Order: sequence, then structure tokens, then C-alpha cells
Amino acid sequence: MASGKKRIAILATGGTIAGVGEPGKSTGYVPGQISAEDLVKSVPELSEYAEVTAEQICNVNSDDITDKLCIKLSNRIRELQEDETIDGIVVTHGTDTMDETAYFISLTVKCEKAVVLTGSMKPATAKDPDGPANLLGAVRAAVGFAIDDDPPANLVWVFFAGELFDARSVQKCSASAINAMGVDAPGEGSNWNALKEQNFFDVSKLQELPRVNVVYFTVDANPKVLEYAACVSDGLVIAGAGSGEFSQAWAKVLERIDIPVVIASRTHHGLVTLNETLAPGCICAGRLAPQKAAVLLKLALTVTERVDDIKRVFSL
Ligand code: ASP
Repeated sequence: MASGKKRIAILATGGTIAGVGEPGKSTGYVPGQISAEDLVKSVPELSEYAEVTAEQICNVNSDDITDKLCIKLSNRIRELQEDETIDGIVVTHGTDTMDETAYFISLTVKCEKAVVLTGSMKPATAKDPDGPANLLGAVRAAVGFAIDDDPPANLVWVFFAGELFDARSVQKCSASAINAMGVDAPGEGSNWNALKEQNFFDVSKLQELPRVNVVYFTVDANPKVLEYAACVSDGLVIAGAGSGEFSQAWAKVLERIDIPVVIASRTHHGLVTLNETLAPGCICAGRLAPQKAAVLLKLALTVTERVDDIKRVFSL
């Protein structure tokens, strides 16, 4: 460490932080345009805090992130965990699905060094882009974890608009606010303690993941949608109303579905308690939002299809 500074690897995946549009405008831009190298060059202050390297994993809108890309990212992070020339890892990512990727990494990499994800709500070409401050904050957070390497340094984080969120609790909570990221239990803050005892799945040898889809219940929703989703999935998550409920018409269809089904809540907040009469044999998502429950179910299905085993996975 010739300069005495910590060495942070920045892995870029695209998103609005790398977005380009009409100069000065915050809308109508194309995400995932600026290269990892240019992204880093655009924030010269980074060099005051760390020696940074830039690497492109992909350059896409985060709605186009795939399971394959998640595996690729996770594999690269695992390599960097073992690289003695690196002290911490920052991932730039679109905000739309950042919560899912953060959770995926936390479940598939045994971290010795912190991983911090960040992004932005405004493109790089906007009048006041939020990306540079977010990237700087994420690098500074990664440096901080590398200096004081007690837990929770060995976890996956999201740094956004001046706040740090743990990978399990974080969610994108606003479609437009500049501080769009929040947690599943507002007021309780991040619960990093819960992460210390979570599941681990080795995806290093996998090319793809089981197919899991989320079905969203609304008043009088056609149960055929549920039936169809089951035909094209290896596992399902139902985003039910309230504490994970749905109509009797859905319950009837559910009786005939023979793949693992996780019940979550479309409220995205609070604790789901399973209604055994409505959803017998299903798995309870607990506090996990539907999209996070889908990540966990996909990974659980790589090791077991038994509902009792999957219940155990979800109880951690
Ligand atoms: N659609 C963009 C993305 O997720 C939004 C963002 O980055 O804020 O890539």
C-alpha cells in the first residue's frame, strides 16, 4: 500500500449513475452508457480517500440484470475477496433492482471485506447529478469498513443519499425521490445483526438459477394468472394483500399447485404471518419483500425442492 490509502475495486454494472441524456435534464435519458473508467474519472475526489480500480461487469439498465449477470458479479466479488491487493469492493448499479442484487450477493459471497452498492436517481448529464456524491460516499464507506474491520465490515451494504442500509432490509421505496432507498421496517433502521446468521449458497459452478416468479394479488384478480405462472416457474412468490392474503378463488387454484410457493405481502413492510387455512403447505416470507423472497427462493431451490427445508431457509 505505497500511498497508505486503502485499495477499493469499483465494479460497474450500469444504471442511471452511468446514464446519459439531454444535458441538464433528469428525465428521458438512457441508463448504462458511461464506462466504468469514465465514471471513476468523473469523481476526481475519490483519489483523496482511496486507490481505486474500475472494472465493467456489464452496462445495463438494472431492469435488464439477469440471474446470469448476478452469478457473474458474485463470482467476481468472490475472487476479489481473496485478492490481497484489494481492501474493499464498491458496485455501481441501477436503483430499480439494487435491493435484489445486494441481497443476492449477501447470500452467495462469504465476505471478509465489505461490499457497498450505490447508484443514482439522476443521470450523469443532469443539472445536479447525485451519482458523484453517492459514489464518493460508497467508496468512503468501503474505506471505513477496511480500516475498522470488526463486524459489520464483513457484510453487503447499500450507500445512498448519505445513508447506509444493510442488504437484507434495503428496498427501493420511491420511484422518484432522490433518497429512494429505505428499509423494510421504517423507524427501526438497518438490522445488520440479523444478517450475521443468514443462509449461504454456493453459485460458483452454476450457469443459471431455477425460475421463480412473483404473482401480485389485487381485488378480483383472475386466478388463471396464478395457474399460468405456476406452469412457467419452479417456484412462486405470491405478493398477497395485507399479511399475505388473497381471494378464495386464488386459494382454490393454489391447492392444485405442486411447486413451492412463498407468501409475501404487497405492502412491502412488516411481518407476514402465514394463514394456514388460506395457504396450507406454503412458505412464509416473514419480513422479506416479494422481490427479496424471490431471490431467496431461487437460491433455496438450487439445493432443495422440499418445502420443509425451504421453510427452514426462510426462518433464518
Ligand atoms: N432504470 C434505472 C436502473 O435501475 C433506474 C436507476 O438506476 O435509478 O437502471
